[in-house]
Amino acid sequence: MTDLDVAVVGAGPAGLAAAYALHAAGRTVHVFEADDAVGGRTRAVRLHGAVFDTGAEMLGADGYPATWRLVRALGLGDDRVPPIGRDIAVWRGGRVVPGLGERGGRALGPFARAALAVALARRRDVETPEAHGNRPLARVGNRELRDYLLEPLAAGFFGWDVQRACAGPMLAHLRAVGSPSTYHAYRGGMDALSLALAEHLDVSTGVAVRAVTTTRTGARLVTDAAALSARQIVLAVPAPVAARLHPDAPAYVHACEYRPMVKVICLLDRPLGPDTPSFALAVPRVEDQVVAGLSFDDRRCADRVPEGMGMIGIVAARPTDWLDAPDEAVVTALVGGAARFVPGLAEAVRATVVARFVDGLPMPTPAAMALRPAFVGRGPSPVDYAGDWESARPCAEGAVRSAEKVAARVLGRVPALVGSKT
Ligand SMILES: Cc1cc2nc3c(=O)[nH]c(=O)nc-3n(C[C@H](O)[C@H](O)[C@H](O)COP(=O)(O)OP(=O)(O)OC[C@H]3O[C@@H](n4cnc5c(N)ncnc54)[C@H](O)[C@@H]3O)c2cc1C
Repeated sequence: MTDLDVAVVGAGPAGLAAAYALHAAGRTVHVFEADDAVGGRTRAVRLHGAVFDTGAEMLGADGYPATWRLVRALGLGDDRVPPIGRDIAVWRGGRVVPGLGERGGRALGPFARAALAVALARRRDVETPEAHGNRPLARVGNRELRDYLLEPLAAGFFGWDVQRACAGPMLAHLRAVGSPSTYHAYRGGMDALSLALAEHLDVSTGVAVRAVTTTRTGARLVTDAAALSARQIVLAVPAPVAARLHPDAPAYVHACEYRPMVKVICLLDRPLGPDTPSFALAVPRVEDQVVAGLSFDDRRCADRVPEGMGMIGIVAARPTDWLDAPDEAVVTALVGGAARFVPGLAEAVRATVVARFVDGLPMPTPAAMALRPAFVGRGPSPVDYAGDWESARPCAEGAVRSAEKVAARVLGRVPALVGSKT
C-alpha cells in the first residue's frame, strides 16, 4: 500500500497537463509545486491592475497541436486565446524594421532571404531533434541571416548560445510555428492554461520536493515535512532540477542543458513603442550588447494593462550578469539600455517586475542529442519525466506534448482528453 497513487512534481504546463490526463483516465493524482502559484515559466504576476507575463508570451496557431488539443478539451474557447495579429520587428542600423518573422521580410536582403528559404525547405520533425545533425546555428546560411534573424531569435527569445546550439531543432521549430503574425496569446495572462488545468486537480503549492528515489514497490519523494511513497512519480521540472532530485535519472536528463533568462517588465503611464505593427522587437547582438529584445505587451494583449497605460518587457542580452544582482540594478541597466529603442521609456515607468530564470530554456547540444534516442526508448519506471526539455523544444508546446507522452507511458495507452472535463 502506498501513500499516493501518482505524484507529479512541478505545476508548470508539463506537470499539470500530465496530471490532468492521468486524472481524466481515472488515476488519483497529487501535484507538488515549490512556488506559491502554478504556471512555472508561464506564470503571470498581477499587480497595480496589470498582468505581468513573467515568462512565456505567445503560442503558435501552428506547431502547437498538443496545446490546442488541451485548450479545446478544457473548453477554453478561441475567444480566450485570441490571435495577436502583429509581427516581430528587428533593430537594424539604428532603426526598427518590421516583418522579421515573415520569412525574413524587409529585414533581410535577397541573399539572406534565399538562404533562409533553403534552410527552412527541408522537412524536419520537431519530435526528433536528434535526427537533424549537430551543425551549430552559427554555421547556418550567410552572415546576414545569422546576424539578423537566427541569432536574434535564438539568443533573444530562447537565450541560446548560437556557437553551441544545434541548428536543426531551431529550424524545425521555426518551420512548424510559421509566421509570428499568426501567433496567439491567452486572455488574462499566459498562465491561463495552467490555472484552468489546476482547477481540476489536487495541487499543493509552496511544497518543494527535495529528493526522489525508486523503491521495491514504486517510488518515494521527500519534502521538508514528509516522506511519501507513490506507485508512480512524474518529475515535471527542468532537466537540471530533475537530475538533482533523482541522481539515478537516465544520462539524457543529466546532459540536458538550460540557458538562463532575465527580463524586466515595465508598466508604463502611457503606451509606448515604435510606430510599427509589431508586438516585439528583436535586437541582434551585433547591434546591442545589453538588450536582446523587447515585447510591447499592451499591443500583444490589450487586457494586460488598465486603459491608457502601456507595458514593455525587456530581455537581457547577458542574463548571467543579472541573475544575482539587486532588482534596482537590473531595472536601471535594462531600462537605460532600452531607451535607445523606445525614447521616453524611463520617464514613463510606473512599476516593474524582474523575472529571473536560472533554468530559462532548454538548448539542444550535440552531447544531449546523442543521448536522446536511448532516453526515448527507455523502459517503464516508477519515476518518469516530462518537460520542454524532453524534445529540446524551448516552448510550452514541448512541455504539453511531453505530458501527453508520459501519460501514455504511465497508462500503457494513449489517454483520451477530449470531453474529459470534470
Ligand atoms: C523568458 C521566457 C520566455 C518564454 N517565452 C515563451 C513563449 O513565448 N512561448 C512558449 O510557448 N514558451 C515560452 N517559454 C517557455 C515556456 O515557458 C516553457 O517551455 C514551459 O513553461 C515549460 O513548462 P514545464 O512544465 O516543462 O516547466 P516549468 O514551466 O518550468 O514548470 C516547472 C515547475 O516545477 C516547479 N518546481 C521546480 N522544482 C521543484 C521542486 N523541487 N519541487 C516542486 N516543484 C518544483 C517550478 O516552480 C515550476 O512551477 C518562455 C520561457 C521563458 C523563461
